[in-house]
Amino acid sequence: QAKAEGRDGLRFFDPAMQAVVNARAALEADLRQGLALGQFLLYYQPQVDAQGRVTGAEALLRWPHPTRGMVPPVHFIPLAEETGHILPLGRWVLQTACAQLVAWAQDPVLGRLVLAVNVSARQFRDPDFASGVLALLHSSGANPRRLKLELTESMLADNLDDMVEKMAALGAHGIRFALDDFGTGYSSLSYLKRLPLDELKIDQSFVRDVLVDPSDAAIVRTVVGLAHNLGLEVLAEGVETEAQKDFLARCHCHVYQGYLFSRPVPVAAFEAFVLGSAQPASVDEVKAA
Ligand code: C2E
Ligand code: MG
Ligand code: MG
Ligand code: MG
Repeated sequence: QAKAEGRDGLRFFDPAMQAVVNARAALEADLRQGLALGQFLLYYQPQVDAQGRVTGAEALLRWPHPTRGMVPPVHFIPLAEETGHILPLGRWVLQTACAQLVAWAQDPVLGRLVLAVNVSARQFRDPDFASGVLALLHSSGANPRRLKLELTESMLADNLDDMVEKMAALGAHGIRFALDDFGTGYSSLSYLKRLPLDELKIDQSFVRDVLVDPSDAAIVRTVVGLAHNLGLEVLAEGVETEAQKDFLARCHCHVYQGYLFSRPVPVAAFEAFVLGSAQPASVDEVKAA
């Protein structure tokens, strides 16, 4: 009450704003507790090549909260970034991803998958990020060549030299990099020249209407061409229909991810999807590799 009339100008204090503040504080408390209690999970969504083979997966964070239900990442990741909880949370994600890679390494088919992990700007900005990832890989025994880190254009606002340096340090160990949600940020094309990237991920907002919106179709064609010309892999996100996939295939997109193939699912369902969809021909390839 005192604060509402106080010197720091909070005169227009209103109950609706207080409710927002309270909800945020409650979610933050739950986030901290969720981390301590190990409430988080990773789901896996397959990434499929033009021949229909699963080449890898994206690990997506899930929070099955005991009373809130399944809290979507868009509701808690921004708060985790603002409050710094993203640092332990992101570390847990990487640790879990490494453990999964080690488990998959026991199987000839699963052992070939590349696992993509989302990294937030705050996490990547941490001066200990690169050494932390290398330490996790080392202690888990995971193969760095099977790990792909997804970065976003928002990180470019920080310090390009620092970003290039961290990517080079990790890349020297075989870790790959994808630029996520490509086309939605404010990055200049000259950044693409400097960043040691392996893959561009075309944002799902361009894929959604690719068949009906000529601008989206032009953007998709251009991004695929750009990736080819820069020697990068290109993956389309949010592929929901066969028709979208056919359009993307005609553009020579390399890899696809979306509900058409599978939603993000728990690890057992993902493994069943991969092993069930493995072509007999790919078994010989595994032996030959
Ligand atoms: P993202 O990295 O761009 O992930 C793709 C999102 O698209 C996922 O949403 C996925 O479930 C959804 N998606 C996949 N296929 C389709 C489709 O065919 N149609 C539609 N409409 N959506 C599809 P999700 O899992 O809710 O994650 C949202 C965002 O949260 C992610 O976007 C990523 O930015 C962030 N996120 C998720 N997990 C992590 C994490 O472990 N760390 C960090 N830092 N961010 C994460
Ligand atoms: Mg991603
Ligand atoms: Mg994305
Ligand atoms: Mg996205």
